[in-house]
Amino acid sequence: MRIAIIGAGFAGLAAAYRLRQAGFSDFFIFERGSKPGGTWRDNTYPGCQCDVPSHLYSLSFFLKPDWSQSYAPQAEIQDYLESFVAHSQLNERIRFNCFVRSAQYLEDSKQWRLTIERIPAEATPDTSQSPGTPESPSNPEIQLFDIVICATGPLNRPVIPALPGLESFKGHYFHSSAWPQELELKGKKVALVGTGASAIQIGPGIAGQVAKLVILQRTPAWIMPRSSHTYGAFWKSLFAAFPWLMRLHRYFLYWQQEVRAVGFLGLGPLSSLAQSLARQMALWHLNRAGLSKELRESQIPNYKLGCKRILLSDNWYETLRRSNVELIPQAVVGCTDNEVRLSDGTIKEVDVIVFATGFAATDYFAPLTVKGLAGIDQRSAFAQTSANYLGICKKDFPDFFMMVGPGTGLGHNSIIFMMECQLDFVLQALNYKKRVSGQERKALRVRETAQSNYYGAMRRRMKNTVFESGCKSWYQSKDGFVDILYSGFTFEYWLATRRFKAEDFILD
Ligand SMILES: Cc1cc2nc3c(=O)[nH]c(=O)nc-3n(C[C@H](O)[C@H](O)[C@H](O)COP(=O)(O)OP(=O)(O)OC[C@H]3O[C@@H](n4cnc5c(N)ncnc54)[C@H](O)[C@@H]3O)c2cc1C
Repeated sequence: MRIAIIGAGFAGLAAAYRLRQAGFSDFFIFERGSKPGGTWRDNTYPGCQCDVPSHLYSLSFFLKPDWSQSYAPQAEIQDYLESFVAHSQLNERIRFNCFVRSAQYLEDSKQWRLTIERIPAEATPDTSQSPGTPESPSNPEIQLFDIVICATGPLNRPVIPALPGLESFKGHYFHSSAWPQELELKGKKVALVGTGASAIQIGPGIAGQVAKLVILQRTPAWIMPRSSHTYGAFWKSLFAAFPWLMRLHRYFLYWQQEVRAVGFLGLGPLSSLAQSLARQMALWHLNRAGLSKELRESQIPNYKLGCKRILLSDNWYETLRRSNVELIPQAVVGCTDNEVRLSDGTIKEVDVIVFATGFAATDYFAPLTVKGLAGIDQRSAFAQTSANYLGICKKDFPDFFMMVGPGTGLGHNSIIFMMECQLDFVLQALNYKKRVSGQERKALRVRETAQSNYYGAMRRRMKNTVFESGCKSWYQSKDGFVDILYSGFTFEYWLATRRFKAEDFILD
C-alpha cells in the first residue's frame, strides 16, 4: 500500500511514525517548507508559545521530561518536533520543498494522483518563514498513491484584511505568522492589528522594544490567568527517572483541561454554573490589573465566555498600562503611505503594521485541490455541506483521510489528543482494507448514511454549545455555523474512534 502524507507538522509526523510502527513502510511525507514543524516552524513572533500545557501538548509516544516551563515557547516546541524527526529517522521519508498542488482520485485504478511542485530554494528564503505556494511551478511531478493522509493543518492560511491603501504603505507590514527575523523594532511606532491569541502574546513580547505600540482592537477577548511556571531541575530529573510520573502528570493536565468543556457544552445548569465561575475568574483577573476605568471597560467582552477562543495571559493587562502603549477600541479601515485609519476617523502615524488577524480556518486544505469520485471537488463539496465522518472521512473521497479535519478542533484541550485518536482510527481502517482486499485492489469509502448520522448528531449538539451562542468568531463558516470544532468531550471522541466500524464503510 503506497501512502502519501501531505504536511510535516505535528499531525503528518505523528502519522508517519504510527504508520511505520504498524508495519506500513511505503509512505512519503510531502512538505512545502524546507523544515518540519508546521505551525511551530512558521510562527516565530516574539512571545509565541503554546496555550495548552507542554506536557499535554506533545505526542504520547515521544514524551519530553525536560520541558522548560508549563507553556513552552515556540523555539522549544520546534526543537521538540525536529528531535522527534531525528529520533524516529523520518527525514529520509520527508520530501521538503514539495508543494502538493492537487490530489485527484482515479476511479479506474482506484488510486490518488498527486501533482507535486518543487518550490525553488529562493521561494523559501528563510525556512522559518511561512512557505508560500510556488509562483511558477518547475516541472510538476506526478505520483500515484493508494492512500492519502491529508495533514495540511487548520491554522496556516493567514488572513490579512483587504484594506484600502495598504499597497501604498511605505513601512513594513506582515502577518504574525511571517515575522521578519531581521526586523529591528527599536525606536519604531508599531500598529498591532487584532487582540486574539497571537496578538496577546506579541503585545507583551514587543512593548519593551518599540517607541510606541498602538493596539487596534475590534472586539476584546475573555482572558484568563496563564499561571505559567517553570520546571526546575528536580522535576525534570524526576520525570526522566520515572516516566510513569510524567504520564501521571499528563493525565492530571488532561483532566484539568477537559473539565473546562463543561462550560462550553449545553449541559443545562451545570454549564451555566461553570460559565458563571469562569466569568468571575476572568473579571477578577481584569479587576486586579489596575487599569483605568476606560481601559478596563474596553476589555469586557459583550458575548458569552467561550464563544470566541478564551485567551490565557499573565502580562496582557500589564502591557496595556505601559506609557508607550495605547489601546484603541476601533477597527482599522484603511492606510496611507505612513498611517493607519480607524473606524472612528482617528489617524495614527506608524512605521510597522503587524496583522495578528488570524487564519482562514474554515477554508479546509486550501490551496490544495482535492477531487474525488466523479471529479467532485472537495472545496465545493464542503461549501455545500460540512458533513463528514469523525472529521476523518468524507463521502465521495475514498482512501482519503483527514487529520484535524472539520469538527475536530478544540476550544479547551490539546489537539494532539484528537490527532492521536484519528491515527488510531486510520490505522484500523488501513488494516481492515489490507485484510479484506487481499490481492485485489479495493477502495474504502464511508457510507452516506453513516456520514449523515454522525454529522447530524454533532450538529444537534453544537447548536446548544456556547460556540453558537451568538458572537461572531473565526470558528464560524460563512453561514454562521461552527463546523470546525468538536461539540463534545474529547474522551467521547476517543470512544468514537477507538473501534473501526466496518459497517459504516463500503469496500469495493
Ligand atoms: C500561534 C499558534 C499557536 C497555537 N497553539 C496551540 C496550542 O497551544 N494548543 C493547541 O492545541 N493548538 C494550538 N495551535 C493550533 C495548531 O495549529 C495545532 O496545535 C497543530 O500545530 C496543528 O498541526 P498540524 O500538523 O495539523 O498542522 P500544521 O502545523 O499547520 O502543519 C501543516 C503542514 O502542512 C504543510 N502543507 C500545507 N499544505 C501543503 C501542501 N499543499 N503541500 C505540501 N505541504 C503542505 C504546511 O507547510 C505545514 O508544515 C496553535 C496555532 C497557532 C497558529
